[in-house]
Amino acid sequence: ARSFAHRLAGLPAPATIEMARRARMLRAEGKPVISLALGEPDFPTPAAVIEAANQAALAGQTKYPPVDGTPALKEAVARKLLRDNALTYTSDEIMVSNGGKQVIFNAFMATLNEGDEVVVPTPYWVSYPLIARMFGGVPVYAPCREEDGFRLNAQVLAQAITPRTRWVVLNFPNNPTGAVCSKADIEAVAEVLRQHPDVWILSDEIYEHLVFDGAQAFSIAAVASDLKERTITLNGVSKAYAMTGWRVGFAGGPKDLIAAMRGVQGNATSGVCSIAQAAAAAALDGPTDLVRDMAQTYSRRRKMVVEALRAIPGLTCAMPEGAFYAYPGIAGCLGRTTAGGARIESDHDFAVAFLEEEGVATVPGSAFGLSPYLRLSCATSDAVLQQACASLARFVQNLR
Ligand code: PLP
Repeated sequence: ARSFAHRLAGLPAPATIEMARRARMLRAEGKPVISLALGEPDFPTPAAVIEAANQAALAGQTKYPPVDGTPALKEAVARKLLRDNALTYTSDEIMVSNGGKQVIFNAFMATLNEGDEVVVPTPYWVSYPLIARMFGGVPVYAPCREEDGFRLNAQVLAQAITPRTRWVVLNFPNNPTGAVCSKADIEAVAEVLRQHPDVWILSDEIYEHLVFDGAQAFSIAAVASDLKERTITLNGVSKAYAMTGWRVGFAGGPKDLIAAMRGVQGNATSGVCSIAQAAAAAALDGPTDLVRDMAQTYSRRRKMVVEALRAIPGLTCAMPEGAFYAYPGIAGCLGRTTAGGARIESDHDFAVAFLEEEGVATVPGSAFGLSPYLRLSCATSDAVLQQACASLARFVQNLR
């Protein structure tokens, strides 16, 4: 028999991938399918960024780069963290990875031992608990409720922390809810964390530029500078600059942890593609108007989608303050039967039936640890979003 590592046992495939597989199968049968399942900007990478990559390649930046990032990109990251986040990091407190995802992989591999707990607010981006589990970590969930605008409540966080807690993950603006914590929320969270000096903090700020209606994202390492020495501030170019395929993320953090993470990455992937790093540096140092324009487009689409969802009897929907998702509640649809005869007992049942009967791919809230909800990505065209909302209205109206 073929054998696989124990560390993979019991790791579920993310539901995002399962929905994509089902959508592909329907397409293969010739059925039209539209997808609101992917968390990926529909914009192209800015032309000036692509040009910087082109120039870097032609100029011979085609050799192995340093494991922790090219000096040029690390300097651009330091400027960015100072400019946008009021955070000062020296060169040995910064590292560049293959997407924000590898920052998390590096950090957890460098710190987790069997049975260590990782506190993850729900709903969450799927990778935090899955990566933690790969390294023997045990996710512990801190629910963020719709009534609280899906922001993290400090009391709820306090209850989730135990003597075995190694990490607390923060992700605001949040995937999947778009919730943004206020400065006061972050201060309250910091006060809880001060009582647990051995806990590392992962602040995933990858959606920081996608905030709407005057909302502002805050970095905990800046709001509570006494916590900076145990915080990893994670960011990247994927979401803000429409650069998901370039695979560049970065982290600011304490020297010793960054050195340990560099050690992990040196044995896994080495440095990130040198050409992609040149592109990322150009993006970070480039004009901010493109980012602002994209954020305005996401904001407009989000309003359009949320208003359409709120008009559907049986659905609820909080107005996201950031990122590019809507997270409607479908509690009013449970226990009912679709036009096609499927019984809806869960958000998973809902998402599968909605895909099969209406040809619209979404992701059930169960994938993000908070049910019964659906995640719809607004990072797609107005026409597709309008079609999806009309399909959703019809699907829900036809429930018996
Ligand atoms: N953090 C969050 C909350 C995300 O949603 C994603 C991507 O979906 C990432 C990090 C990682 O993105 P990347 O690895 O492309 O930088």
